[in-house]
Amino acid sequence: MARKIISKSSLINRKRGSEQAISWRTRFLDQLQKATESATMINALITSIGEGLIIVNEYGIIDHVNQPALDILDYEQHELEGKWFPAMLPIFDKLGNSIPDDERPAIRALLEGKPITELMYYQRKGGKIIPVSSTASPFMVRDKPKGAVVIFRDVSREAQIERAKDEFVSIASHQLRSPLTSIRLFTELLASSAKNRLTKKEHEYIKKILFSTEKMIDLATDYLNISRIELGQLVVTPRPTSLEELIEKRVEEMKPVAAANHVTLEYKSNLTKREEIPLDRDLVGQVIHNLLSNAIRYTGNQSKQKGLVTVNLKRTRKYYDITVADNGIGIPQRARSRIFERFYRADNAVRIESEGSGLGLYLVKKIIEGTGGKISYKSRENKGTAFTICIPLKGME
Ligand code: ADP
Repeated sequence: MARKIISKSSLINRKRGSEQAISWRTRFLDQLQKATESATMINALITSIGEGLIIVNEYGIIDHVNQPALDILDYEQHELEGKWFPAMLPIFDKLGNSIPDDERPAIRALLEGKPITELMYYQRKGGKIIPVSSTASPFMVRDKPKGAVVIFRDVSREAQIERAKDEFVSIASHQLRSPLTSIRLFTELLASSAKNRLTKKEHEYIKKILFSTEKMIDLATDYLNISRIELGQLVVTPRPTSLEELIEKRVEEMKPVAAANHVTLEYKSNLTKREEIPLDRDLVGQVIHNLLSNAIRYTGNQSKQKGLVTVNLKRTRKYYDITVADNGIGIPQRARSRIFERFYRADNAVRIESEGSGLGLYLVKKIIEGTGGKISYKSRENKGTAFTICIPLKGME
């Protein structure tokens, strides 16, 4: 009887066990189906993003590429997936320089742990170079970077429009400069030949014409150089030059402007002998002119204290340091990160000087950094500002 009971319960257990196995199997299949569905869904989503997408793992191997990316780059999926990302997709900057592996946005995004957006140039399968706007974002698993997602789109059309715009600005500002220079020259001639016959008021008028013409020439020169930089057409022509003399000349030219703004302009140098190094005189001249013009404009007539702008040339171990310091309005803390941006002007500067392009410092930085130098500044609001540019002892590159 007892045997009968045991065998009945074991039968029940076995039945339960197989029922459980079936339900686990069903659950497993169910989960598998769900996982497959969500993988298909993710794949469909990745493909339906209108932009190119590449997923790279932490070792720089391409894990996944969506269809728009394949279309833009002209590759088949199997040609890219599983391959070393930098080898398959060389990237370049605007001037055609190859971007080293450790400076690639995907690698930087992984190292810095934040998304990086940049305009750059990708090389397609056939070798053609195309401009792309790309954002590389790191993805983390349990707080550890596991790879990067790169999203990009072909911006050839936008780049064409941008280029056409830069070319237009370049031609227009170049053509504007010649008549403006003539106006300046003839106004100066007129002023000196009619010197004794002009009334005080007429002298004032001539001064104003000259002042406005100078401003327009400065603006046209800034626009011309900026458009050339953007087009990658800025030609640097270094010739043996005495930096000391070059600065001296620019300081002398600015003295009347400083005087008109009630600012004293001083120049000091610690160089013991006249040395000549290869410099592009026009470009260095413009850099000094822009810094001086700012120092004077943002210092003159500002306070009871007398305006003072000093220019200091110093030879250090690797560089010639040129510091232009003033005791003017200073750069507010909130504007610190932006003053080298194109068109940016701090609100305290706009308040005292409504006219200004916000292009001068952008240009100075581009010229100096583009030729192997460095630029930095220190400033305190209402106390003053000092900009320092460092030009390599070997001259401009
Ligand atoms: P602009 O002088 O035409 O506005 P810049 O590009 O030369 O354009 O300068 C950008 C901004 O940087 C200025 O508008 C001003 O806010 C700030 N700045 C530059 N130089 C000085 C200076 N010496 N003192 C105070 N602010 C300055």
